[in-house]
Amino acid sequence: MSDLVEPKAVEITYETDEPVRYEVIDHVAWITMNRPQFNNAQNGQMTYALDDAFMRATQDDDVRAIVLAGEGKHFSAGHDIGTPGRDLHHQFDNRLMVAKHVNKPAAELLYTREQEQYLGMCRRWRDVPKPTIAMVQGACIAGGLMLAWVCDLIVASEDAFFQDPVNRMGIPGVEYFAHGFELPPRVAKEFLMLGERMTAARAEQFGMVNKVVPRENLRETVSGWAARLVAQPRLGNWLTKQALNHVEELRGKRTAMDAVFHMHHFAHAQNDLVQGNSIGGLGAKEMAAANKKQAGET
Ligand code: ZN
Repeated sequence: MSDLVEPKAVEITYETDEPVRYEVIDHVAWITMNRPQFNNAQNGQMTYALDDAFMRATQDDDVRAIVLAGEGKHFSAGHDIGTPGRDLHHQFDNRLMVAKHVNKPAAELLYTREQEQYLGMCRRWRDVPKPTIAMVQGACIAGGLMLAWVCDLIVASEDAFFQDPVNRMGIPGVEYFAHGFELPPRVAKEFLMLGERMTAARAEQFGMVNKVVPRENLRETVSGWAARLVAQPRLGNWLTKQALNHVEELRGKRTAMDAVFHMHHFAHAQNDLVQGNSIGGLGAKEMAAANKKQAGET
């Protein structure tokens, strides 16, 4: 008896061949998520393109700082849970020491995939040996938080907001569980339990965001900061980021994240058992509608 299954055949329609744009300007690599019509929802195609971009920026000695941005109105609406390009059942060439996911049964499929594409990739990007800045406008929701949080610095526009509403799916936060490190514990509980939007101004109060500027000044501010990072010693930048990342590890970031990752997957499995759907039957449309209702929008 085999413990493998036939991969599920699901039709995938990518709207673009370039889900991530990459350009180097004045020694700064600008990595831009490029699915604006889907608010930069992250599918596997984008995740691997991001990984390629971070690797390219790492390998290029001409690049001395990295900016991670999102094209369009919003930074990122999170993981792709409902576009035609949702590619959960597509197997990419794994970058980490993780097996294929598409031929694994039941909860093992998602557990394997998220070890690689979410937890593993985010940790890999956090450790990029060059300083990184997230440039955040509009929505930065769930999986979007993970991308902003792996960066060393976060500059947001006044209209930016942050939210992790996955408690609505019975899940204790997104896969890269930095919530308790980015926010004071009681604030993190509020953030997760209520799942409400946090404004950039409030996020700045807790140091989750470094700077908040008007939307029209966002790019210019980020360019200015990146130029200053470019002017600093390369090794100094790398060592400084490692030093602070190490402090976070000493505070237990990695082990806390490992523990919560397993709770996260217990919740996925529970959803599957109870509802036959790992995200509680809530697709992009249902989540967006519930978010709008919660925010008092119509
Ligand atoms: Zn998950």
